Amino acid sequence: MRTGSSTRKPEPSTTSSPRHSALTRLIARHFRRHWTWFAAASAAALVTSLAVVSYGFLVKVLGDRLQDAASGGNIGDASWLLPGLIVLAAVVRALSLYAMTLASNTGIQRALVDVSNAQFAALIDGDHARLASQASGGYVSRFLNDINTLRDVTLRLANNLPKNILTVAGALAAMLWMDWLLALVLLLVYPVAFAPVIALGNKVRNRARRSQEQAGDVTAFLSEGFQSARAVAAYGLEGYQKARAAAGFGERSRLFLKVLRDKAGVDPILEIAGGLAIAGVLALSAWRIGEGASSIGDFLGFIALVGIAAPEIRSLGSLGAAAQEGEAAAARYFDLSDAPAAVSDAPDAEPLGRVSGALSFEGVHFGYSRGEPVLNGLTLSVRAGETVAIVGPSGAGKSTLFNLLLRLYDPQAGRVTLDGRDIRALRLADLRAAMALVEQDPALFDDTIAANIALGRPGASRQDVEAAARAAQADGFITALPDGWETRVGERGNRLSGGQRQRIALARAILRDAPVLLLDEATSALDTETELAIGKALQAFAKGRTVLVIAHRLSTVQWADRVIVLEAGRVAEEGSHAALEGSGGAYARLVKAGLG
Ligand code: ATP
Repeated sequence: MRTGSSTRKPEPSTTSSPRHSALTRLIARHFRRHWTWFAAASAAALVTSLAVVSYGFLVKVLGDRLQDAASGGNIGDASWLLPGLIVLAAVVRALSLYAMTLASNTGIQRALVDVSNAQFAALIDGDHARLASQASGGYVSRFLNDINTLRDVTLRLANNLPKNILTVAGALAAMLWMDWLLALVLLLVYPVAFAPVIALGNKVRNRARRSQEQAGDVTAFLSEGFQSARAVAAYGLEGYQKARAAAGFGERSRLFLKVLRDKAGVDPILEIAGGLAIAGVLALSAWRIGEGASSIGDFLGFIALVGIAAPEIRSLGSLGAAAQEGEAAAARYFDLSDAPAAVSDAPDAEPLGRVSGALSFEGVHFGYSRGEPVLNGLTLSVRAGETVAIVGPSGAGKSTLFNLLLRLYDPQAGRVTLDGRDIRALRLADLRAAMALVEQDPALFDDTIAANIALGRPGASRQDVEAAARAAQADGFITALPDGWETRVGERGNRLSGGQRQRIALARAILRDAPVLLLDEATSALDTETELAIGKALQAFAKGRTVLVIAHRLSTVQWADRVIVLEAGRVAEEGSHAALEGSGGAYARLVKAGLG
């Protein structure tokens, strides 16, 4: 049963049809907003092209005048006017190139900020299952490598495509005007060269995708390696890490080289086509001039125009291969941004309203995507205001219960309810706002202690933050720190001890003031004395709330109203600590083994 689950609607876009290439769709979605910059760049490209094509005309006029002069005519003012015009064309071309580059760069940088924001939003708002299923470094790489690739490719496209097309079109028009027959010969030669260029482009796209995925693996390896620096030093794993790094870097360069090799194949093909064109022009010109159908000026102008158009055609050809690299990166972007979310608000999701906090699992079956079933028809209920300890062997599915309560995943069968309502029918944000989770290894952010606690309830006053810290027995160590509440905790809180991190996370949860408190071995890193003190504070805080505590210590279990023993995804036993301890069953065995 999947009531309330819905597929995330794709972003409204007039161009999201899969018939279009991913790169085109990406440009339509995120670059269109910045069209004024690209319009300005294209206008500058037009000026650049006109300026360069005008060289061909000037050379033709100069050629004709020289021929006149050779046959006894007067070269007139052409001797100084034409060189002057050529310099003017060069200046116009230089300035318009500069303007084009500035305009396209600005548009692209702005559009790529939008792409990065949209990609980040897709990840953060998207499925937890997807985030959890891949190494975080792989995602980081999307913001570094993929965005860099998109930057390179779109810059090349914006700076070259309009200029290339306009210059080639202008040169062709000028050639047709000077000598249509010669121009037609050229038109026949070039397209033949494009078939292998297109084939190479397709190869580049496939290889680029593999190379971008592998870049993600390398980023993942690097971030894992730096985060595990302590274990690496303690276990003497430097050699092992270096070997893994060398393999990753080697593979990176191997895949990169393959892409470069394919891309490099384009230029020689087009170079040969350019040579053939000039040879064709030379051979035919002699005949055309002999026939009187063409002049020396036409010939010189033609050669100049071929010289102008050939690099632009070469650039167009290599642009195709480069665009295929961008195509691979854009496809990766759409894989993420348009992926349907397995867990999301139902279209008719209801607001939650006041919560009393009764929870139930009714015949819940659940397994993570690739693995074995974890919960096998689990049925349990927790009354509003009750404190329940959940115990069981490692891997029994205790944390999974919390994952389902928070709707990080939906069950494959059965239902989970809050106050008797299927949580899939509720708004996700409301459901999660009703819960406060404290993890064993809590997520602190690289900000101050006060800011980390305040994340529990954005907008909370400083007094509330400090009161929550007192309730979590955290104020003592915080005020003893040189920077007190303003102490920055470092990445994931790594400048604090495990117990200090847990107390800050507890303070955050207390500040949240939610009707349901989920403690996942939340006090495991504390010394016994602090744990006892916190236990007392939590008992007071728990009044009127529903509390589920995953416990590995007897001291935590003892203040619960009821204990539920989970084994292999089912409730094996439930009752009070005293009753279960005396029953000689699974719980008694766990207690004997120290619970943990
Ligand atoms: P522990 O006491 O060791 O924390 P637990 O009872 O909380 O264990 P869970 O974390 O719920 O157990 O895990 C139950 C099973 O689900 C385990 O076999 C675990 O390997 C698997 N599991 C947990 N999280 C994931 C995940 N994100 N993807 C795939 N499998 C997972």
